[in-house]
Amino acid sequence: MPVLVMKFGGTSVANLDRIRRAAKRVGVEVAKGYDVIVIVSAMSGKTNELVGWVEETSPLFDAREYDAVVSSGENVTAGLMALTLQEMDVPARSWQGWQVPVKTSSSHSSARIEEIPTDNITAKFGQGMRVAVVAGFQGISPEGRITTLGRGGSDTTAVAFAAAFGAERCDIYTDVDGVYTTDPRITDKARKLDRISFEEMLELASLGAKVLQTRSVELAMRYKVRLRVLSSFEEQSDTAGTLVCDEEDIMESNVVAGVAHSRDEAKMTLLSVADRPGIAATIFSALSDAGVNVDMIVQNISEEGRTDMTFSCPTAQVARAEKALADIKSSGGLNFAELVADKDVAKVSVVGIGMRSHTGVAAKMFKVLSEEGINIKVITTSEIKISVLIDRKYMELAVQALHDAFELDKAA
Ligand code: ADP
Ligand code: ASP
Ligand code: MG
Repeated sequence: MPVLVMKFGGTSVANLDRIRRAAKRVGVEVAKGYDVIVIVSAMSGKTNELVGWVEETSPLFDAREYDAVVSSGENVTAGLMALTLQEMDVPARSWQGWQVPVKTSSSHSSARIEEIPTDNITAKFGQGMRVAVVAGFQGISPEGRITTLGRGGSDTTAVAFAAAFGAERCDIYTDVDGVYTTDPRITDKARKLDRISFEEMLELASLGAKVLQTRSVELAMRYKVRLRVLSSFEEQSDTAGTLVCDEEDIMESNVVAGVAHSRDEAKMTLLSVADRPGIAATIFSALSDAGVNVDMIVQNISEEGRTDMTFSCPTAQVARAEKALADIKSSGGLNFAELVADKDVAKVSVVGIGMRSHTGVAAKMFKVLSEEGINIKVITTSEIKISVLIDRKYMELAVQALHDAFELDKAA
């Protein structure tokens, strides 16, 4: 029988009623003749609570124990979903990641899926089971330890299962009815897209649009998974939601497809470092060894052989970055005057494959921000995106102004 993957995010399994509602949706697909793999997230708020407990217990925690704790939210919903389906007379059972096993790398708290053997679940389908409920977000390392895939990782579990089982489609059920031109929580002018290209979705996701985890889009693109985002709160047709697809399958699109934002950014500046070969390598190797994800980097102009080096990283990693740089300073590996952390910044980005062939997008973006009196602290660009770092208090205003200026409320 054809296989369908259905993923339910946190708000879609937030309580027993919602789990029942999600299970009914699964029942509809089973009745159509699909064998279904259901991937579940933890109940909404649960993972945040678990992360909070870990951080309170141990600020610079051992990531293996972090994973042991934060993976547990999904175990609860997987069991409850299987029970709910059984109550509806749908043959179902649950699997935790290690039972499948979802084999991952050892990079705890941001592990990558390496292999998903299909024999175990396929054999059960052959024996009359109709739904395999799998706990998302988790796997097992070569050392036999529980791993997690990074926040939002259940999306990646879903796409990886769809690829491994050759699923007809991977449906991501969430609390919005598709991918929008920007986060609908920031402006009610945000417009739902019927289709979006893998490339644009990849950029939007990596720049903060958390509707899909970046890695899930990468996998869908690589393995040609039909990926759809839709609401678990509405009745659904086969064409509902947003289809993430190849660029060639989209007839018309705006130059700018969407605006993304990321609230949890920090800007770190190292004052007065030597301006000579090897210094950047020393700084960024130390940060990488400490597990800090550096995003933007700017080196200021130098004066008398000294310069300032600015970089951005997630707010949650500021303490790690400070410790790593203080450690190389005290061991004599790097000399700098001061490390200044600005935790009140946000990143706002415009994304669109049309930028490859249209000029003037950056100029327009900067003009719009200046008209709103918003100062730009750092800029980065790629072929299909422009990102700026600004004061966090202006983030919503910037998103709204850019959405208006690029007329994203109107279809191409
Ligand atoms: P889930 O728990 O189902 O995985 P998430 O909270 O991870 O859901 O992702 C859904 C949320 O993503 C939406 O509620 C919305 O606020 C946010 N979001 C951000 N950018 C976008 C966008 N461009 N389109 C749709 N949703 C977006
Ligand atoms: N529960 C995890 C999180 O909140 C994974 C997910 O929901 O995708 O990040
Ligand atoms: Mg999510």
